[in-house]
Amino acid sequence: MNQHPPFSAVHRAEQLQQAATHHFDLIVIGGGITGAGIALDAATRGLKTLLLEKQDFGAGTSSRSTKLIHGGLRYLKQLEFALVHEVGTERALLHHNAPHLVRPETMLLPIIEQGSLGKQSTSLGLFLYDILAGVGRKERRKMHSTEDTLALEPLLRADVVLGGGMYFEYQTDDARLTIEVLKTAQRRGAFAFNYAEATGFIYENGKLKGVKVLDHHTNAVLPIYAKKVVNAAGPWVDELRIKDHSLNNKYLHLTKGVHIVVPRRRLPIRQAVYFDVSDGRMIFAIPRGKITYIGTTDTNYYRQQIERPQATLEDITYLLNAVNYMFPRVQLVLADIESSWTGLRPLIHQEGRSPSELSRKDELFFSKSGLISIAGGKLTGFRRMAKRVTDAVVKDLHNNYGMPVKGCVTDEVVLSGGRFKHPELVPKYIAWLAKKHADLGISRSQFRDLVYKYGRNTHAIIRIYTELYAHRSLPIEQGLLLAELHYGVQYEMVTSLSDFLIRRTGRLYFERPEIEPYLSILANEIADILALSPEQKNSQLKEFDEEYWAVLSFAGQPHSIR
Ligand code: FAD
Repeated sequence: MNQHPPFSAVHRAEQLQQAATHHFDLIVIGGGITGAGIALDAATRGLKTLLLEKQDFGAGTSSRSTKLIHGGLRYLKQLEFALVHEVGTERALLHHNAPHLVRPETMLLPIIEQGSLGKQSTSLGLFLYDILAGVGRKERRKMHSTEDTLALEPLLRADVVLGGGMYFEYQTDDARLTIEVLKTAQRRGAFAFNYAEATGFIYENGKLKGVKVLDHHTNAVLPIYAKKVVNAAGPWVDELRIKDHSLNNKYLHLTKGVHIVVPRRRLPIRQAVYFDVSDGRMIFAIPRGKITYIGTTDTNYYRQQIERPQATLEDITYLLNAVNYMFPRVQLVLADIESSWTGLRPLIHQEGRSPSELSRKDELFFSKSGLISIAGGKLTGFRRMAKRVTDAVVKDLHNNYGMPVKGCVTDEVVLSGGRFKHPELVPKYIAWLAKKHADLGISRSQFRDLVYKYGRNTHAIIRIYTELYAHRSLPIEQGLLLAELHYGVQYEMVTSLSDFLIRRTGRLYFERPEIEPYLSILANEIADILALSPEQKNSQLKEFDEEYWAVLSFAGQPHSIR
């Protein structure tokens, strides 16, 4: 078997069939950020690794977060100093190893009358945060008077603002981070397949020896063998622990978080704002391109159905009320909502704690059969979580199979697309691309959008554009979109319109109104590339249509623009 098969959807089914003939050191179940991080760590330590994802990569929680690489300010409130240090260090590493995807963003923390933050405590808190998280000189906290805070953010409610603190959070795209980690793992020899579900386990004398895999594209059922199996199934972790008969008194507690998206002109804040809500919680309003997104809620989730959690009208009203209180001149209404997303936090149950009080720490569970499960945690800490899991795997493989013990080196692994000597060189790369390809007529902002999604891999998209679309006299925007789709299918295992428009590009969340004119063009193109039948193409359109309306329907109540 080719050690480095292309990460392409075109030969996906045959490659999965081939993979099934091999014996792996490690099978990772779950293609969210946790599983992706483990696959990368294991592959860099030389383990023959297979990752299985039953939906698309990132389709669980890892495309539904607030999309921030946190420095851990909320942990400071809970006095978890070591954790603040850990996530601060991770944030700096990620910024270095994927500067196109993890970027600093100023965050204003207004201090308001009767709010949860006092002037002194915020100043001290942010000062401690700077030290513990190892914040660089340029990004250290600044405290502001009432006047200055209102000058920085004139839309804020003037009658309650007492001042403000300014600090930095890092923005990312969670699903793209997941795919870049997977592409890096794949380049280092790991195999990863989407739409490949672990439906059961294979045991020998009570010990786990492999996994039964259902390929959702072909309906083939394949037994695949490995020395170790890790369960990184996020909100589904307990489903697999039940199958392994190893669920104990520590179990998952799912909480639901909703974000809404409005056009930026309706909430034209000048920077991200992290503000108080009357129930004692805090929420973010984050500008991004042409939109501003707002979130999140945090409520218990007891439903059985976890594949596509949905926002309710109550969730939406909570967020709208919070914004309208803090930015009274804005007065958002339901019809302003352009998109939304809802995610489930796979946290560990703690008796008597409310959703917001539950610890975000991760925890490993070791079963008698040999299954290692990981639950809890954050996007931000994924590399450390992966290290802990892979350390345990490597130790076990050494003790039971005499395999060599290799340490973790992922702190030095640059993620796919992220090869820049210094983060400040990303804008220079954009300028260089624009100059080099001036004859193509692509604008600086189009290059910028591509580079902040694909980093240095943008050159491959431009190559595809030049070879396949530039001469077809299409509008540039359309040609580039098709080149992006082509790249996604060939290099990021895009198998459907939903994979492309939701997880690889975030367009359903951030540019929903702009999708419609291109939908049938994209459907024809993907059908062409993947040789889909007319039925398969229509079923892709139908599936995407459902997703399209789901972001505008709140628990079955379609919102007014439908
Ligand atoms: P998932 O991403 O859910 O991945 C698990 C995967 O396993 C799924 O894709 C699923 O399809 C797959 N799977 C399940 N069963 C099987 C099976 N049998 N076979 C094959 N595959 C299977 N963290 C931050 O650091 N910053 C934030 O700003 C932030 N904001 C958040 C906001 C919200 C609303 C939520 C809900 C979470 C937020 N988090 C944030 C936390 C972060 O998003 C999660 O910790 C992280 O995404 C969890 O990743 P995961 O890989 O463990 O789970």
